[in-house]
Amino acid sequence: MEVRIPDVIDVHTPSPARMYDYWLGGKDNFAADREAAEKVIAAHPEQRKLVRANRDFLVRVVRHLAEQGVEQFLDLGTGIPTSPNVHEVAREIRPAARVVYVDNDPIVFAHNQAFRATDDRIATVQADIRRPREILGDPAVERLLDFDRPIGLLVIAVLHFVPEGEEVIGTLRENMAPGSFLALSTGTYEGLTLEQRERIENAYAKSSAPAVIRSRTEIERLFTGFDLVEPGLVHVARWRSDGPETKGRLLAGVGRLGTSSPAG
Ligand code: SAH
Repeated sequence: MEVRIPDVIDVHTPSPARMYDYWLGGKDNFAADREAAEKVIAAHPEQRKLVRANRDFLVRVVRHLAEQGVEQFLDLGTGIPTSPNVHEVAREIRPAARVVYVDNDPIVFAHNQAFRATDDRIATVQADIRRPREILGDPAVERLLDFDRPIGLLVIAVLHFVPEGEEVIGTLRENMAPGSFLALSTGTYEGLTLEQRERIENAYAKSSAPAVIRSRTEIERLFTGFDLVEPGLVHVARWRSDGPETKGRLLAGVGRLGTSSPAG
């Protein structure tokens, strides 16, 4: 299958999507990405384990939402495809599941276009999460997602690149129907020494998206308007699983939009 290779790929500026691909053992990364990714590993030796645990969380959460009846997903900060992808997991339970993948990285867009060529219930949008109204108004989103019915909003391992996370989720929430879910994981400095935190932030400082590491309270605030489901906000490895926690953490949680929420 032919994948359109984007004209402009800056191989000298580390890209979070390609750093993440490197930690997962993928091949879509360049020297600058590997160097920045290794700096994170030097500061936090369990980084690879943490990224795997995050990917496993994504699989558990999509399965859980599909079991709750969700059959349409908006995946923000999709990343370079890696097995299994959201639509594959969702369709084990909801064969008609529809997924819109959103990422601002041109490499991610190029790869995900390959899916779209063969599957009209999947779309890929190259957009910036910081402009959620553009995402809501995108023709592919309008075609595939019905906001009058529950949606699974996935914001996994991406808000640590988005300082305006609360506003972004708030805008999307106002458009979501009761019974929709927000699933997220994001970086916290809980469990890190100050030195580790600074080294991780430095590793991303020259990348295309500097890191925004949050406190637990700041992450809880991202769920404003949603009711956290069991087990609440926990290490990614502990969300409905008993995997080992790493010291550096991604906190993960799932919130359900009830009828009494501010979204009405
Ligand atoms: N959600 C996937 C991939 C996480 S890697 C998973 O959990 O496995 C983070 C992804 O977020 C990268 O692909 C990066 O390109 C994307 N990203 C970072 N900032 C973004 C922004 N402002 N808008 C859209 N995508 C963004």
